[in-house]
Amino acid sequence: MFEYAPAPESRSVVDLKPSYGLFIDGTFVDPTDGGSFKSINPASEEVLAEIAEAGAQDVERAVRAARKAYDKVWGPMPGRDRAKYLYRIARLIQERSRELAVLESLDNGKPIRESRDVDLPLVAAHFFYYAGWADKLPHAGFGPDPRPIGVAAQVIPWNFPLLMLAWKIAPALAAGNTVVLKPAETTPLTALLFAEICQQADLPAGVVNIVTGAGDTGRALVEHAGVDKVAFTGSTEVGRAIARSVAGTSKKLTLELGGKAANIVFDDAPIDQAVEGIVNGIFFNQGHVCCAGSRLLVQENVADRVLESLKRRMAQLRVGDPLDKNTDVGAINSAAQLERIRELSDAGSAEGAERWSPPCELPDRGFWFAPTIFTGVTQAHRIAREEIFGPVLSVLTFRTPAEAVEKANNTPYGLSAGIWTDKGSRILWMADRLRAGVVWANTFNKFDPTSPFGGYKESGYGREGGRHGLEGYLNV
Ligand code: NAP
Ligand code: MG
Repeated sequence: MFEYAPAPESRSVVDLKPSYGLFIDGTFVDPTDGGSFKSINPASEEVLAEIAEAGAQDVERAVRAARKAYDKVWGPMPGRDRAKYLYRIARLIQERSRELAVLESLDNGKPIRESRDVDLPLVAAHFFYYAGWADKLPHAGFGPDPRPIGVAAQVIPWNFPLLMLAWKIAPALAAGNTVVLKPAETTPLTALLFAEICQQADLPAGVVNIVTGAGDTGRALVEHAGVDKVAFTGSTEVGRAIARSVAGTSKKLTLELGGKAANIVFDDAPIDQAVEGIVNGIFFNQGHVCCAGSRLLVQENVADRVLESLKRRMAQLRVGDPLDKNTDVGAINSAAQLERIRELSDAGSAEGAERWSPPCELPDRGFWFAPTIFTGVTQAHRIAREEIFGPVLSVLTFRTPAEAVEKANNTPYGLSAGIWTDKGSRILWMADRLRAGVVWANTFNKFDPTSPFGGYKESGYGREGGRHGLEGYLNV
């Protein structure tokens, strides 16, 4: 095994303030009826900043600001002018991408290699892509004159803080809506830096409002009567509660929820590439990925070979300082999430599956979990059914393509799946039968703003990305 010298990215590119207000009507303001909370670096438990918590009156102020901006400025503005703002934001994100990437890694715990090479390029690409749609909405296939919906309430999780913001804000603004967005409690900082970028881009006041806080702030926002559209990404449990609260109102709703993807490896797959895909599928972003390939289905006759190779590869993964450019697996986002991962993994052992992790030294401070696989997993085990949302892979085997399909679909979720095989015809046969919104063939966890993303069943409804992503923000 190679030994690398530490190669930490400099954190001095980030200018952290001791405290942050709410971003309402184009300026940072103190909360009127909320309090404050701290955001920490999960890799060190160091407090990064004190963040304002929006109360119900603050949410009210933000929704009012968004309504005014929608009625007076953004709604009436021609699409070609909205596009100029979106292009400007996209360029500023590129210009400030190093700063944004470091801040994302500090607040979230993800490796700088990923925030720098995956999150930030995709965030900018999303704004560029939807900027291009802003003046072409009549050609999007939703009628000759599709109209925006109005004020969008958007609530996002902590796993891809800035990328989820981009998925929500870019299409909403391109379609002519204004937004109030609530980032997750543990990862508010890049959304607040994005607010500064909106100021830098001279985006009209009130078009984007950011209300930080926890679940109560999110609830106040989605239940607010002045909101016309609710877009949520997060757990199925909270998604259900939101669907209930929106039912019977005229609000439009899109939900992006959890997943339990099957990554299916056939015996004719190129094993080394498949192993890279398995690793990327479950250890990318510490497994905090809704579409993570958390169930490996491997054809029985190659299972030993695949597992041997996988274990050898896992032993090479470097777990540690997210700001080190050599790091493959960073910190778990919060103590609460670490506890959930531990609880489910312990259940896996208790139910009789065999647990394995490579020897790896974890830092003393912060929240860490070694890359883990479970073999001898049955479909009834909790680790095969429930979303772990961590670096934990459950391995099951199959004999025939039909059995692989049956096992892959045996889940309440339906977000994504992966197929590894040399046969194109088999890929198509499988893709037709898998109940998943996204199916990757001989690759995994690849995203592109032109491609729609979303789920079936308990993974939610509506699509984000691509032309389809506009539909949720238009009255069609
Ligand atoms: P979560 O608890 O559902 O939280 C998501 C967001 O909703 C957070 O901003 C959260 O605030 C807020 N929230 C909590 N309770 C709320 C309520 N009653 N009303 C309105 N908002 C509320 O999910 P999480 O644990 O943070 O994220 C992990 C989950 O998200 C996983 O299940 C994962 O699969 C899913 N996810 C899905 C996708 C997708 O595209 N399908 C993408 C990423 C993640 P606080 O966190 O501040 O409390
Ligand atoms: Mg944090």
